[in-house]
Amino acid sequence: MKVAIASGKGGTGKTTLATGLAHLLAAKDHLTTYVDCDVEEPNGHIFLRPGIERSEDVSIPVPAIDQELCTNCGRCCEICRFNALACLPEKVMVFPSLCHGCGGCTLVCPEGAITEVPRVVGVVERGSAGELGFVQGRLAVGEAMATPVIRAVKKAIPTEGVVILDAPPGTSCPVVETIRGVDWVVMVTEPTPFGLNDLKLAVGAVRKLGLTTSIVINRSDVGNSGVEDYCREEGLDVILKIPHSRSVAEAYARGEMPVVTVPGYADMLETLAGAVLTRTREAEKR
Ligand code: SF4
Ligand code: SF4
Repeated sequence: MKVAIASGKGGTGKTTLATGLAHLLAAKDHLTTYVDCDVEEPNGHIFLRPGIERSEDVSIPVPAIDQELCTNCGRCCEICRFNALACLPEKVMVFPSLCHGCGGCTLVCPEGAITEVPRVVGVVERGSAGELGFVQGRLAVGEAMATPVIRAVKKAIPTEGVVILDAPPGTSCPVVETIRGVDWVVMVTEPTPFGLNDLKLAVGAVRKLGLTTSIVINRSDVGNSGVEDYCREEGLDVILKIPHSRSVAEAYARGEMPVVTVPGYADMLETLAGAVLTRTREAEKR
């Protein structure tokens, strides 16, 4: 059972919820892994404080040109959609930071002048926080290619048990890569015009991928009724409403998990944890 915790915008409390839910399930002796796919700024580790047991580089293949073999035919530059190659009169220049590692240029080169060399764009780390399995991806500083790192993170997740994926915020390629193929998307939002605007975009993306989604409204007692009205109109299941709490904000500021240190917070997440387990049992029966 793979559950993605996503949000159309940052700052909605997505990681607080994802880490809390994963911790709660593991504390109930369910085999659970927390997976941080927010590779540009992974921060679930601050809450969970895992021990890292394995670390593997993630690389993409970028072209290296043998100028002796190159005849300057220009085919490699024609096929590259990312402007990662420039065919000059006397040589072909490669811009590795723009290369997506698709391999197209190598395939079309008639002279065999292109070889592929690995370029490290990030790292995947695995470990555990008590009984909870832990996987995170980290994009290398200055790199822009989050998607290959997320793909590598997803390859590293176990096939058994419940997997809670902490998705990047927004609706761009890294989010799509994270939620592709999951069993359920839990969307965290806030009852504000900004939350509603981004929720609409995120729900649109999830629906395009044919995925099931439920909504968590965080700080549900502030703002307006726009999000709830929208969910009602769209037939979206609001599975949990979490009222604003100064204690939760203070725990967050100290890097503590509210599910551990704030009385009553774990009880609130029980509904969500129960729904995850119900869906897991149903999936096992199929
Ligand atoms: S591997 Fe793909 S993206 Fe990279 S330079 Fe070649 S064609 Fe362009
Ligand atoms: S396709 Fe090969 S031969 Fe042609 S310009 Fe590119 S590297 Fe040179």
